[in-house]
Amino acid sequence: MSRRKLMGAIAALGVSFALGAIANADETFEPGQPIRYDGCAIVTISPTNEVQAQAVRLLELRLMSCAEGRTCTDYLVTSGEMAVLRSIGVPLAVVTADVQAAIDEERARLERAGDAPRGSAWFEEYKTRDQIVTFFDELVAQRPDVITQELIGMSLEGREIYAYELTGPGGEPDRPALLFNGTQHAREWISPMTLSFFARELVTGYGEDPEVTALLDGVKYLLVPIVNPDGYVYSWTTDRMWRKNRRDNGDGSFGVDPNRNWSFEWGGRDRAAGADRRRIVGRPRFPNRKRRRCGTTRWLTPR
Ligand SMILES: [Zn+2]
Repeated sequence: MSRRKLMGAIAALGVSFALGAIANADETFEPGQPIRYDGCAIVTISPTNEVQAQAVRLLELRLMSCAEGRTCTDYLVTSGEMAVLRSIGVPLAVVTADVQAAIDEERARLERAGDAPRGSAWFEEYKTRDQIVTFFDELVAQRPDVITQELIGMSLEGREIYAYELTGPGGEPDRPALLFNGTQHAREWISPMTLSFFARELVTGYGEDPEVTALLDGVKYLLVPIVNPDGYVYSWTTDRMWRKNRRDNGDGSFGVDPNRNWSFEWGGRDRAAGADRRRIVGRPRFPNRKRRRCGTTRWLTPR
């Protein structure tokens, strides 16, 4: 959006402010250095009318929710954007007042946790991609009759995308299957941890716990703990708030949103978002369709 358009929109709301105060957090990026979010906050914004909703859209804030909601939505905002939002009078609640402080605190915690042993303490902190791959290697070594690993594709930056099939040996071969993907959105670090825990509970419970045994004998569980390895690694090394993959779009921008790029119902309801669409979902027309067809889709499609 042009600054002129924004000024016009804000002026129409009867509000004046210093536009210079709006700085894009990405502009603080220095090559090779983690992106910093000094002065940024995460807020939940709840527009009460269409004028407010329109003003929020014009600001092109950095979306934190999975989709831009019709009601309350989370955004990452600079101090300048926060000032504008307050002057417009849009109802907002601060979720994280100081994003950089939260990132620093988390980083310090992760360094203290290090390579925690595989007991329940392992689940107390997020884990790197290498740690998660090793965790699943150990489960496969422990119960190869219950869990098997498959390489379903390579990421654009050349990282393996591993899937794991968990099911009880023998029995009905045509059992239903359930697919779980982790890190379609890179920064959602809880997702591979959830799948690690789920896998461990199934693997260690098989033959021990009748309920778990029945779950594995009746259903096939297909887990892809890190379906977006490039984005996940990038969220650890460079940008904690990164959401997409790391596709070079060729126009200076990087990343498309994997969960808006399945060949079925592309973009979903975000198609209605018009000009905002590209920011949320990346480029249209299945930019990653080929990769998908070579990876998860091919793996899932009967051969
Ligand atoms: Zn998400």
